Amino acid sequence: MSDHTKLQHFIGGEWVAPTSGEYFESTNPATRKVLYHAARGNAADVSAAVDSAQATFEDPRWRDLSQTRRGHLLRRLGDLIGEHAEEFARSESQDNGKLLREMRGQLNTLPEYYYYYAGLADKIHGAVVPTSDRKVLNYTSREPLGVVGAITPWNSPLTLTTSKLAPALCVGNTVVIKPSEYTSATVLRLAELVIEAGFPPGAVNIVTGFGVEAGQPLVDHPALAKISFTGSTATGARIASSAAGRFIGCTLELGGKSPNIVFEDANVANAAMGVVAGIFAAAGQTCIAGSRVFAHRAVYDELLERVTERARSIRIGDPLEEATELGPLAFEDQREKVAAYVDLGRTEGARVLTGGRPTDAGLGGYFYEPTVLVDVDNDMRVVREEIFGPVAAIMPFDSEEEVVRLANDTEYGLAAGVWTSNLSRAHRMAARLEAGTIWVNTYRAMSPMSPRQGFKSSGVGVEHGTETIKEYTRLKSVWINTSEEPVADPFVMRS
Ligand code: NAD
Repeated sequence: MSDHTKLQHFIGGEWVAPTSGEYFESTNPATRKVLYHAARGNAADVSAAVDSAQATFEDPRWRDLSQTRRGHLLRRLGDLIGEHAEEFARSESQDNGKLLREMRGQLNTLPEYYYYYAGLADKIHGAVVPTSDRKVLNYTSREPLGVVGAITPWNSPLTLTTSKLAPALCVGNTVVIKPSEYTSATVLRLAELVIEAGFPPGAVNIVTGFGVEAGQPLVDHPALAKISFTGSTATGARIASSAAGRFIGCTLELGGKSPNIVFEDANVANAAMGVVAGIFAAAGQTCIAGSRVFAHRAVYDELLERVTERARSIRIGDPLEEATELGPLAFEDQREKVAAYVDLGRTEGARVLTGGRPTDAGLGGYFYEPTVLVDVDNDMRVVREEIFGPVAAIMPFDSEEEVVRLANDTEYGLAAGVWTSNLSRAHRMAARLEAGTIWVNTYRAMSPMSPRQGFKSSGVGVEHGTETIKEYTRLKSVWINTSEEPVADPFVMRS
């Protein structure tokens, strides 16, 4: 792709120019070089995409396709993604600055998401429900919703799109995707593979552009049956209120400020690696970043030393290079936000033990040093608010009771890490922490098979696993009178 490449919307199986005629540029955050231009979508483009998705939803070629055949299409799509994994990984790495190694890891496992829902497609069914009247048969069935809108962020473009797309298609919906304005390329390329896999044109449509110009019209479109969103809590709140006004369902995967807790009985060397992975992998730009680290006072100094030492040795550089351990932040505002938070931390009284400075890594990009803040407490904004960068706040604690209270004292509830060798404590913590995902002696583990849900301001609804199927279907209850007896007069009361 050259810097002159103009990417179009993908509507009804065709490349479609934006009605406004306008495009916006996408740059490589490691080098600030322009990668391509993408169509600047608006309400008219969104309407065309929703119309196309609605027409396909009603088309017997899609509507009447057997569940097994739908599964087969998903399997083919998974295979095609596997064949193009390297191309996708390189493209995403250049678009959002995440390490090629990490994107390769994501792309190599991405087919599994499609295989999982391919296998599930013909195993979704209702139930016969016993009622008090033996002459009546009552059964339930799960139906697709219609046109599903999917709005995604930039940090793991294809993976986060897939969490919505695979289950939505698995049950027979059609989809309109609005990818992040920072990462349009790979989702558009995926659209071509969707057609190659054999899905009908219009099953998957993509409108690129900005949140207010293209995302909001999608959420507000009267024909939309459901919105599935991953992104910030502030945008999620806006989307939830639009959806509520029209009584359509929404699945929201939002922000986090996850605690990573190291007990005195933990293997501290392992815990230090878990803390480093939790906050410095992906330069902290993950919703599940373990940004609040609590270390028992007995191991606080040792943990701090290990984490700080590793943070200082992290190799910052070109995300495409094998040896690089930390790439840039995804765009300029993102780095400014991180820098502003670290400055705020300083004025709040935090001490910067290591890092705390922007750098261009000799490449001209938006890099920021891995940063460890100490002398912090749960009341400071740097500890309460999501920074979305490589900034760890490390705090000591004295008792299990205290750390449960501190860990839960947050508006978020996405994930939590616990490092301990005490099995009973591990289970106690898993039960008491208010977060949808708990990791014990590991961090960042994820699978399409394992459902996940954000608690509190971290989300609504479930993604992954069989559980997410409920988010993309509606339940119908059917009552059939099996008796040949005359229907009784309703005003003659039964004794
Ligand atoms: P964002 O909310 O700024 O944008 C996300 C998407 O929403 C983009 O496509 C954007 O264009 C669109 N958008 C913005 N305003 C909109 C509006 N008014 N109406 C409709 N769409 C709109 O988030 P971001 O900065 O791209 O992503 C980072 C955030 O995503 C972080 O808060 C992170 O924690 C969260 N995130 C959550 C998960 C999860 O699974 N819980 C995963 C990854 C990222």
